[in-house]
Amino acid sequence: MERMSAKRVLLAKPRGYCAGVDRAVETVNQALELYGPPIYVRKQIVHNKHVVTTLEAAGAVFVEENDEVPPGSIVIFSAHGVAPEVHEQAKKRDLRAIDATCPLVTKVHSEARRFATQDYDILLIGHDGHEEVIGTTGEAPANIKLVDGPGDVDNVSVRDPNKVVWLSQTTLSVDETMDTVDKLRERFPGLQSPPSDDICYATQNRQQVVKEIAPECDVMLVVGSTNSSNSVRLVEVAVQAGSRTGHLVDYPHEIQDAWLTDAATVGVTSGASVPDDLVSGVLEFLAERGFTDVTEVESVKEKLTFSLPRELVRDMKKSPSLQ
Ligand code: SF4
Repeated sequence: MERMSAKRVLLAKPRGYCAGVDRAVETVNQALELYGPPIYVRKQIVHNKHVVTTLEAAGAVFVEENDEVPPGSIVIFSAHGVAPEVHEQAKKRDLRAIDATCPLVTKVHSEARRFATQDYDILLIGHDGHEEVIGTTGEAPANIKLVDGPGDVDNVSVRDPNKVVWLSQTTLSVDETMDTVDKLRERFPGLQSPPSDDICYATQNRQQVVKEIAPECDVMLVVGSTNSSNSVRLVEVAVQAGSRTGHLVDYPHEIQDAWLTDAATVGVTSGASVPDDLVSGVLEFLAERGFTDVTEVESVKEKLTFSLPRELVRDMKKSPSLQ
């Protein structure tokens, strides 16, 4: 498509909150309302600075581990999922745990348990140290081996090359993951695939629309935090798909005017843990600099929602004020 002379913005849709993040944030909000502060949350409920500081102001207390939570208190586990031993620790400490793990992460945990029961070697494609990877690995530590991208494939060893399956973190780059799988399959032709995609619908959809608009963009601005895997991937996908540059920002004031010099078209999107008011702030920032022609490009409609954790729903039903 020919570049237009007016300064324009291509706004990606879908962007921002996915069903799992929406559920996790709502879990903390409802718990604050139902039980009152403080509500303890193990790890960042979702990987977004703004969300965490907003919940902190409302009475959530973020901790790294269960042993920082006073016995008898409520603790919420984050959307990224936890290893079974974290549930055990909470029980031993007499904590009232509410599990806000995204159901799509829970699905990967179930797959890991199932293949481990059948004594497969499970090659988990993901990023070393990411909370989701730690949680999934905890389901079957003896069977799971981490593969941190295509460059890590040569380091993998398995017991029986005919009994190997791959699983993945939910928030990876689709293309890079398939590249890793292809390389793994060159080494292990008998490698089995998971029964369904582990990279979640939200990650795939946000990457898909970014790929569509990136060839027309001089700059892609992705709103999201640096520890948000899916947000970081969006910058990479944008640049690979043809955007001249890409930047990750938590807030509009982080945008540098130099990035916009000579730019005619700016793409804007946001990671799955980002509330849309932050994107509105970015659009205002751009409008002040002449980027007033905003076109929203929608690649797919999302309708998925998840119900709140059942332990929370059970208590909400008992509370007449929240009926
Ligand atoms: Fe769930 Fe995907 Fe959202 Fe992660 S990005 S919370 S897996 S829907």
